[in-house]
Amino acid sequence: MRVAVLSDIHSNLAALEAVLADAGAVDAVWCLGDVVGYGPDPNECIERLRELHAVCIVGNHDLAAVGRAPLVDFHAEAAAAARWTRRQLTPENREWLMTRPERVVLADQHATLVHGSPRDPIWEYVLNTQIAAGNLPYFDTLLCLIGHTHLPSSFQELAGGRIEVTLREAGSCVRLSEGRLIANPGSVGQPRDGNPAASYLLYEPEQGTLVWRRAPYPVESTQRKMLAAGLPPRLARRLAEGW
Ligand code: ZN
Repeated sequence: MRVAVLSDIHSNLAALEAVLADAGAVDAVWCLGDVVGYGPDPNECIERLRELHAVCIVGNHDLAAVGRAPLVDFHAEAAAAARWTRRQLTPENREWLMTRPERVVLADQHATLVHGSPRDPIWEYVLNTQIAAGNLPYFDTLLCLIGHTHLPSSFQELAGGRIEVTLREAGSCVRLSEGRLIANPGSVGQPRDGNPAASYLLYEPEQGTLVWRRAPYPVESTQRKMLAAGLPPRLARRLAEGW
């Protein structure tokens, strides 16, 4: 089985299409939340995931877009994008977003899926080894897949309870072993590691392998749509820099 693991698409259809083309034939698509927010194509991204029968959980920006997260918790530009997104969503797509779960456990594939962290699925950022270690008691599978930080990265549990953190470049590969692993595919629609190419990972549960990948996409086409829609220009600019 070959699974494309995507996160933080953020309404960027060009990036999503590039990732799906790059992944080629897959048996499943898993999405770790923040399908919408920031970008210009909320309905199109949701519809693409629905078409693919993706397993999808909910992220903080998805909740904001359906009015279930207070906008005071977002910076001004993210809040403006959330308000814009709220106005665009069709009733069906809004309903789909509202019914995404916070956590999915796929025991046969050894995986728990959450947006932020297993301890706090919506809001917590797993950014260091202390936070990763504190989250180990909150999932039972060998692998926990997370998004939210937009950083392609992994936190591997080593013997003695130590955690090793690694930022993952394209082609970087991990094999599941004894220790548990928290893995982040990075962001499809708004990477924040200085590389503007869409980030995701391919997971093969039978082999226990995860491979991080990057897919370049026409950033300018997404930027043009954002400006035409009246979304904050800084959100468009940052896509070119990958921050
Ligand atoms: Zn996000």
